[in-house]
Amino acid sequence: MTNKELANLIYPDINKDISYYENKYPLRKLKEGAIVSRFAPSPTGFVHMGSLLTTFIAQKIPKDTDGIFYIRIEDTDQKRSLENGIQGIIDDLKSFDISYDEGVISETESKGEYGPYIQSKRKEIYQTFVKYLIEKDLAYPCFCSEETLDNMRKQQEKQKDRLGYYGKWAICRSLSKEECAKRIINGDNYIIRLKSPGNFNKKIVVHDLVRGSIEFPENDLDVVLIKNDGLPIYHLAHIVDDYLMRTTHILRAEEWLSSTPIHLQLWQTFDFKPPKYAHLGLVMKIEDSGIRRKLSKRKDPEAAVSYYHEKGYPIYAIKQYLLTLANSNFEGWMDDNPDKLIEEFKIDFKKISKSGSLFDLEKIINISKNYISKLSALEVYNSLLTWALKFNSNYADLLIKYKDYSIAILNIEREGKKPRKDFACYSEIMDQIFYMYDELFLAEKYEWQAITNKNEIKNILDIYLIKYYDENDDKETWFKKIKDLCDELGYASNMKDYKLNPDKYKGNITDITTVIRVALTTKSMTPDLYEIMQLLKKDCIENRVSLAIKKSNY
Ligand code: GLU
Repeated sequence: MTNKELANLIYPDINKDISYYENKYPLRKLKEGAIVSRFAPSPTGFVHMGSLLTTFIAQKIPKDTDGIFYIRIEDTDQKRSLENGIQGIIDDLKSFDISYDEGVISETESKGEYGPYIQSKRKEIYQTFVKYLIEKDLAYPCFCSEETLDNMRKQQEKQKDRLGYYGKWAICRSLSKEECAKRIINGDNYIIRLKSPGNFNKKIVVHDLVRGSIEFPENDLDVVLIKNDGLPIYHLAHIVDDYLMRTTHILRAEEWLSSTPIHLQLWQTFDFKPPKYAHLGLVMKIEDSGIRRKLSKRKDPEAAVSYYHEKGYPIYAIKQYLLTLANSNFEGWMDDNPDKLIEEFKIDFKKISKSGSLFDLEKIINISKNYISKLSALEVYNSLLTWALKFNSNYADLLIKYKDYSIAILNIEREGKKPRKDFACYSEIMDQIFYMYDELFLAEKYEWQAITNKNEIKNILDIYLIKYYDENDDKETWFKKIKDLCDELGYASNMKDYKLNPDKYKGNITDITTVIRVALTTKSMTPDLYEIMQLLKKDCIENRVSLAIKKSNY
């Protein structure tokens, strides 16, 4: 029996050959140096921050070189695949503005000429490539049961031998074709393995764009290519897909680094030119105990990309953060180019950390605060509304109903030289400025500070309203009147005087403004009180003062 006959027996329905697909998916017509890369997730319905970082780099580099970035779904391991798991990934990418030229765009649709972009729809293609290997005697059927493999593992452990299916352990490698044919016709279960040409005592060098050149022993494992269900495992799917989709750069997690000798061997076995590899380190987290560990989707809510979307972190700020993780020189570049957009920064593989990056939520918060502080009130309003329309319809209704008023609130202490940096994400904003809306204002939990005596609070507020408050006052007059109120009530209107002679006074001007502030907002810390009062207006101020007096009247 010839190899060809065996290959035909295994795949009687596969009638095309590799060249058919090579013609169908021709070399891409891109300019010299253009990079083609991809994101190849399993359909778990969720993107991890570590994957977002890899994806972000994988999409930015083609953009910088007029290349192509595409999304391929790797669902050949049906156990890891979730129903509707593709949509979650697409939504996560969309929420971070990660755009792609080709690939899946929904559970059922895709765009681009190099598809299908879902591996389970490419069965025939993989089988064509494996049929070719069987014909060339570079792959063979293996009938070993789980039990046989288990026993083999135990024996290898006992003999302190290397684990795996290789050399003398690769029992099915030496089966005659006739024996194989007999068992196949008999209906025995089998998988297809690579007939590895490698020698473990020889070395192979992996050239990695991040890590440089690393020496490994050659692969001599007869790895599985096609499983019993007819679908490939990662090693084969990676080579076939990235060859036919004409990928030039593979950016993937470092967990794949140790398999790269297998992949290089497969490229060579098919006589295809391998792409360039870049293995990115893990995104780590330091626990309070000081232990460094992988940012985990089980333990850390902030590991999921959707967390940032739901909280309403600005996409631009997250991208900026990802760039600080991607390249150590990014922050220096930002300092040197304060007016440039981050999109103009070019990622350098050599400056990607080999040891992985440390995830720092505090830093995301700071970058976001800084970013939001530089936006105009209208920009904040628009982003806040977009967030609220998705996640809080109550807030959205208020923002729409009181559009100009809301913009004015968001403008308090904003467009000056030193804008306030109090919002890190859009979900926080309404919770911080709730008191500006009667619908959200709650006359509870007043944060009284130095002055807590109810009679004193009533006295201050009554006199202020009756004698001093005038909604038409400009800021200077308003402040002068508060000073007058202090003088009248025996509080220092000048902090210098107060510090020199504290015993002379009941307290100072801050104590008085705090009483007014807390009465109007319930909070002891707010942005500029004058501006708040300008927006709340007379009726509301009078109502809130009487409410506060009532509530302090226990
Ligand atoms: N499906 C693989 C994973 O999720 C992709 C690795 C690759 O990018 O090639 O790890």
